[in-house]
Amino acid sequence: MSRKILLPVACIGSILLMHLNSSAQGNTKRHLPIIDVHVHAMKMNPAFAADMCPWFLSDMPGGDPNQPPPAFINTDCASPLKAAKSDKEFEDSLMATMRRLNMTIVASGDAAVIRSWQKAAEPGRVIPSLTLSSSSEMTVMAFTDSLSSGFYKVMGETAPQYQGMSPSDTSLDAYFAVAEKLNIPVGIHMGTGGNGSINITNPKYRASMGNPLLLEDLLARHPKLKVWVMHAGYPMADEMIALMGANAYVYVDVAGMIWSYPLAEVNDYIKRLVQAGFGKRILYGTDLMVWPKLLETSIGVIENANYLSFDQKRDILFNNAVRFFRLDASKYQ
Ligand SMILES: [Zn+2]
Repeated sequence: MSRKILLPVACIGSILLMHLNSSAQGNTKRHLPIIDVHVHAMKMNPAFAADMCPWFLSDMPGGDPNQPPPAFINTDCASPLKAAKSDKEFEDSLMATMRRLNMTIVASGDAAVIRSWQKAAEPGRVIPSLTLSSSSEMTVMAFTDSLSSGFYKVMGETAPQYQGMSPSDTSLDAYFAVAEKLNIPVGIHMGTGGNGSINITNPKYRASMGNPLLLEDLLARHPKLKVWVMHAGYPMADEMIALMGANAYVYVDVAGMIWSYPLAEVNDYIKRLVQAGFGKRILYGTDLMVWPKLLETSIGVIENANYLSFDQKRDILFNNAVRFFRLDASKYQ
């Protein structure tokens, strides 16, 4: 489906999700609340901020190792999403979208960027998350201090797959033990890495380390740890379903895959998880990086999903995250 067709439908979806919300100022129309659990806070670097065509992996190019590698992101389409040119442009655009769509975000990455967003947003709307993918990044003591400071409420994006490591690798165990003890939910990257990830961007990445079943030893060692699988373990739906069936507290997010893989494939994957009975365990996430309009594009996939009921959409966009992160829903209306 082209974006030209999608946009008017997305607008209809947005209208359906508006409601009357009484406030101290009187009756104002507010979008029903949305929680995006997967946002990256980073300083804009114009040299690396290319425009991007959503669902660009619909046509993965062939290639030859003796030729220059193909582009990781396709920028060649009628209306690519524009990358922000500066930190201010990105922040202003993000804040405007968050206000308009009544959004709360879980943001990981540059702490200075996160603090700036917190200042600009309504209180409580930017939830800081601490990134850690390998033990070489931070000592356990420094990690414990950071998580105990009260600033960070979440641990993630944890991405041992990019180091060629299983999430159950014992070198990470002490960090997960800290998160378990402090009641901090953890987001772990599993599954998708994009086109030719190993050849083009991350030589240590291993597709096999994205198998959701690799989480089982970690979960067995830390029964109170709250884990969500970022990118929903795509494309390993069977393994994801088996893991969630056996482990009652595991959730997934649909970030990244929702705007990069072919749209029909994205919808089939989400539908499969819902059909298998896990509609209450799917969190909405964008994997927002440098393209401000990516929020509307990705949220539109859920709003336009004709295989989801209104209640199932509300679960994915809001209710499931409230439950998973132990939030007070009344603060986000
Ligand atoms: Zn990721």
